[in-house]
Amino acid sequence: MKFKKSWNSIRWRIVLIYFLLVFIAMTITGVFIMSELEAYQMESIRSNFSKIVQENILSLQEYENLLDYQDELQIDIVAWSESLREEMFVVNSDFIIIASSNLNYIGKSGLDLLEQNILVQGLSGEKAEADVILPTGIPVKNMVFPIEYQGKITGVVCLRADISSVYETQSQSKLIFLQAMCVALAVTVVLGFFISRSITVPINELREKAEKMSEGDFSQVVSVKSDDEIGRLAEMFNLLRQKLDYTLSEISNEKSKLEIIVKYMADGLLAVDMNRHIILANPAAVHMLSITEKELREKSYDEIIGKRSKALLFDSIRENCKNGGAHTTFDYSGLAFAVRYDRFRDENDADVGIIILLQDITEQQKLDHMQRDFVANVSHELKTPLTTIKSYTETLLDGASADPETTRSFLTVVDAEADRMSRLVRELLQLSRLDYKQENWLKKEANVISVLKTAVTKVEMTAATKKQEIKCLFDPKEKLPAVIDRDRIEQVLLNILSNAIKYSPENSLIEVDAYKEENLAMIFVKDNGIGISEKEQTRVFERFYRVDKARSREMGGTGLGLAIAKQIVEEHGGTILLSSSLNEGTTVTIALPLAPMRGQKNIE
Ligand code: ADP
Repeated sequence: MKFKKSWNSIRWRIVLIYFLLVFIAMTITGVFIMSELEAYQMESIRSNFSKIVQENILSLQEYENLLDYQDELQIDIVAWSESLREEMFVVNSDFIIIASSNLNYIGKSGLDLLEQNILVQGLSGEKAEADVILPTGIPVKNMVFPIEYQGKITGVVCLRADISSVYETQSQSKLIFLQAMCVALAVTVVLGFFISRSITVPINELREKAEKMSEGDFSQVVSVKSDDEIGRLAEMFNLLRQKLDYTLSEISNEKSKLEIIVKYMADGLLAVDMNRHIILANPAAVHMLSITEKELREKSYDEIIGKRSKALLFDSIRENCKNGGAHTTFDYSGLAFAVRYDRFRDENDADVGIIILLQDITEQQKLDHMQRDFVANVSHELKTPLTTIKSYTETLLDGASADPETTRSFLTVVDAEADRMSRLVRELLQLSRLDYKQENWLKKEANVISVLKTAVTKVEMTAATKKQEIKCLFDPKEKLPAVIDRDRIEQVLLNILSNAIKYSPENSLIEVDAYKEENLAMIFVKDNGIGISEKEQTRVFERFYRVDKARSREMGGTGLGLAIAKQIVEEHGGTILLSSSLNEGTTVTIALPLAPMRGQKNIE
């Protein structure tokens, strides 16, 4: 915004104020001087009149009847008036001019030629005066003085003086005064113009700097040139600029901090205004709801969100958050979301929009389910052997113990079930130790082939009972050194091998292989058993997951073996994979990192 020079500016106002002040002061002074001058001149005429009367006319008071002494009076008046500029008339109580410095007036009626009012006043004993303009156009001052003889008014003396010089002096003075005023006003305007610069220049500087500040340039510093109000204003301006600069940078820091938080926060954040336009959607929200750039640009909130969750339509969330924030959950594209929303308002408490916070609770829900399933599974796993033990012991207590044969077979079942429970508890404890990283690892360098051979030897007997052959394809002399907890890895291999035995029919072949691949020791256990469908393969590593529950339990399985195996292998930095075809067989592959190559060393 550019500032326009106008007659409204402070500079011209100051000039105008100076002008008016000087004009008013000079006018008042002029009027006062004029009237005083006029009063002075009139007063001097008046006192002149009084002096004349006192000096010359007092003798008139000796006459009882003035008319009787008309001639003498006339001679006296002519004599007196010779030295005077004023005209003089003596009027008796009948208003007849009995003597006058103007011979033409003698004997005539004073009422016609002189001022009636003052004559009447004079004859009533008062001094009176009147300024009039004669028919000839000459302004005159008339004054009457009563003549007394022993307390009785015998007539009046009327004096008349030309006062045109007074008026002339007046108009002359007025002219001089007007000229002086014009010069004074002109000087005032010029001086005012320059004096006002001392005020307007710093103000203009302030304005220009403020203008630049409004454009975002906060480097402006105003020079403080004086210690007066304007100097203080400049000081305050500089202080204000500093504070504003500081506050704005604080705000912008906060803003960028918030922007970063909003950008990188794991929860989705949406802000929608009252016109149902999305005014903010952070990357997490865009990702969670698979919102496209185009949708954000072109579509309204309801169009975008409505097709993802009807519960989040604008009208419904606005209604819900009337009494404070609200929350809900919804599922979209296989994920579960918890949503919290609330209105945000301006400083007048009017609604500006709604902030919506989205939280992906899919994992949490899964964990909740898993936890619930886990508790249900453990209870179930314990309940079955407990029921069996209970029923067998009850039967024994009810008298079956009389027969030693039955007693023995019953106690064998009870023993097996107790074994089963203790295995279950042992495995659960091991899982818990693995979960909480409390397992005591005894890792040292060992030959994986040797561990594999031991495991195979241990299960050979079991395989033999099913007439299964375990074929070792690896070179028994090969060395695959790895830093492992021998017992734990053996436990893993035993589990895999016993699974292969358990889930393969009699007379089948189980192949075991191991070799080095890059820096990994690869172990394969392949069976030709019942296999696992593709859908279930992904779940066999879950706790308690069993494809065929009854069969697994029958074989003494707990459904925890593979879960434990996976955790042990991963603790060693390795991987375990299971690939299978239903009714064709299963291959379990374990990859363990080989020990770093050091000097040839005998390991077993
Ligand atoms: P279990 O104690 O039941 O054997 P695991 O965790 O070792 O528990 O195995 C989980 C499930 O995976 C088993 O119940 C079984 O259904 C399936 N499974 C494991 N290994 C094999 C295999 N070699 N062939 C077929 N099914 C298998």
